[in-house]
Amino acid sequence: MSFSFPFQWIRSYCDATSKAVYRLLLLSFLILVPALAAAEPEVSGIRMNSDANSARFVIDLDEEVEFTLLTLADPYRVVIDLPEVNFSFNSTGSGEGEGLIDRYRFGLFRAGVSRIVLDLSGPAEIERMFMLSPGGGHRFRLVLDMKPTSRDAFLASVQRAVRSGANIPDSRVSAPITARPANSRRVIIIDAGHGGIDPGNLGIIGVPEKTIALNIARAIRDQLARNPDYEVVMTRDRDIFIPLDRRRVIAREQRADMFISVHADSFRQAGVGGATVYSLSERASDREAAALARRENRSDLIAGIDLTGESDEVTSILVDLAQRETMNYSARLANLVVGEMRGDVTLRTNSHRFAGLVVLKAPDVPSILLEAGYLTNRADARFMNSSAGRSKIAAAIRRAVDGYFNTLASEGF
Ligand SMILES: [Zn+2]
Repeated sequence: MSFSFPFQWIRSYCDATSKAVYRLLLLSFLILVPALAAAEPEVSGIRMNSDANSARFVIDLDEEVEFTLLTLADPYRVVIDLPEVNFSFNSTGSGEGEGLIDRYRFGLFRAGVSRIVLDLSGPAEIERMFMLSPGGGHRFRLVLDMKPTSRDAFLASVQRAVRSGANIPDSRVSAPITARPANSRRVIIIDAGHGGIDPGNLGIIGVPEKTIALNIARAIRDQLARNPDYEVVMTRDRDIFIPLDRRRVIAREQRADMFISVHADSFRQAGVGGATVYSLSERASDREAAALARRENRSDLIAGIDLTGESDEVTSILVDLAQRETMNYSARLANLVVGEMRGDVTLRTNSHRFAGLVVLKAPDVPSILLEAGYLTNRADARFMNSSAGRSKIAAAIRRAVDGYFNTLASEGF
């Protein structure tokens, strides 16, 4: 009895151990095997909502994927290329369409590339294509919106796509918009204008625009950073020159949800004052806005950057489309900022204006430029150069940003 006890104990210990090992192996098997089988992204469904006037084509996916899109004429087709995916919902590889979409086909195009082709019943204009993060009971969705157009317009868009590359496959356009997981934080870029060898406006209180802008940007950063849902990134946090294009690239690299550029204006008449919020537009809303765009766009020139070879040209039709969509969101944000500033910060008349500002041209990041006031106006300059003034500006921005994202969330984005 006294001998058997330890043996028994050892045996049951070993049993327990081997059971644990067995369980662990089984668990690994259960976890690893489906993981290996599901190595490719899965397309779990294709849906559409189409009539004579518009068509929405939705691809249900279990993960975010890159996509490219091209249009072809005679017959009219839209081609969507994805990385190699597993089409799990339909083994026939094709289906009937409705409205603008006559039929659709899908399958492996070549190793690594799965393709979906829509046969259209007529020429269509691609309005937009974007990835939606999970929400509303759905996983990721790749959404394509189209509407009928003329044959000439369709051919023009096809030719434009082909022209940007040597041949059709090369002309395919990378996705301008990608989604981040729904639970990830909103990335907000705060861009202090000018810096380093580009001082911006000099104003009348002896503090250059680059310093005023940086201090306001820091105040905005500090207010926004209190919200754990926000990740705030500064394009610069010291007195350093950043090329305009680099500022946009930072926004895209960070996959930003929002870009806010902070500046302070100047005017020949000292009486002119107040804040103005600019959003991007092809055409300036007035002569003053056009002049402002010329001034702000000269930043790189002032810094002595060789602009040869630099291209602001948006080469692809898709980026164009994304930019148009982004411009609407930017205008929405600008209106919110103006609304939140009212009462706390002196506003210029027509306080939301439109201008072709280079720094706002990230094609898929809603972007605004705040001219927080006039450095040629003594009251404005003092306000912007005081911590009380800066925190009023920052608080208004924070409220507007909160409002903007709350509205987006209620719309399912
Ligand atoms: Zn400026």
